[in-house]
Amino acid sequence: MNEKAARKLDGFFGALQGAREALLLLDYDGTLAGFRVDRFQARPWAGVPELLKRIQTQGRTRIAVITGRPPHEIPAMLPLEPAVEVWGLHGAERLYPDGQRELEEQAPAVWRVLEELRQQLHRDALGGLFEYKLNAAVMHWRGRTLEQARAIERRARELFEPAARIDGLRLLDFDGGVELRAGRDKGGAVEQIIRESAAGAAVTYLGDDLTDEAAFRAVNAARGPHLSVLMRRKERETEADVWLKPPAELRKFLTRWAEVR
Ligand SMILES: [Mg+2]
Repeated sequence: MNEKAARKLDGFFGALQGAREALLLLDYDGTLAGFRVDRFQARPWAGVPELLKRIQTQGRTRIAVITGRPPHEIPAMLPLEPAVEVWGLHGAERLYPDGQRELEEQAPAVWRVLEELRQQLHRDALGGLFEYKLNAAVMHWRGRTLEQARAIERRARELFEPAARIDGLRLLDFDGGVELRAGRDKGGAVEQIIRESAAGAAVTYLGDDLTDEAAFRAVNAARGPHLSVLMRRKERETEADVWLKPPAELRKFLTRWAEVR
């Protein structure tokens, strides 16, 4: 870590100690858990659930997972008591710890176009893996050869790009796929959580993917103490303040958090 990033990290933990409220916002896949082609096999890295449990038990941190997955998949992968707060579908669907769910509303035309595309991809997945989401159609090419991946991507974009011109729909690129979706993104979810918190709350967001950049930007714009963290094995261009490598540096970060709060 360079000197500037190290200073930023230390400065944040210094401010975290005295902050009245603290927000620990986390992506799931690639950040708390390693990738698996079968996403139901993606369990958190060793030690991570225990550390989150410890932070939760202290009662001085609001923990939320912000993920591209349907939100109800997370509590089973990350069992905490009470259940963790989840913003799924990149922020469009919120799952409260008591099990209540809330999906952002959209115009009827948005749902109609989306559903037509999903039906089409359900019949022919273009050689990739089609995922049906409540608010989106997703094409994955993770695990395919480079040549296959290029062909799937080209065909998916041909299909998605005209639809993305409709008001309320947009394209989202991520590692190994593309998503046509409706609703708030991860940045919108972070902004909403900050709005619901005390002025000057300390906030951090940990994420690995391109879709996490919107969340980094929202954190970077927060008025209280803040830190955006790219949690990823390989470095890349990012707007995050610091880059940490999971799982060792993730455990270190969460341990330090628990000690400070
Ligand atoms: Mg991720």
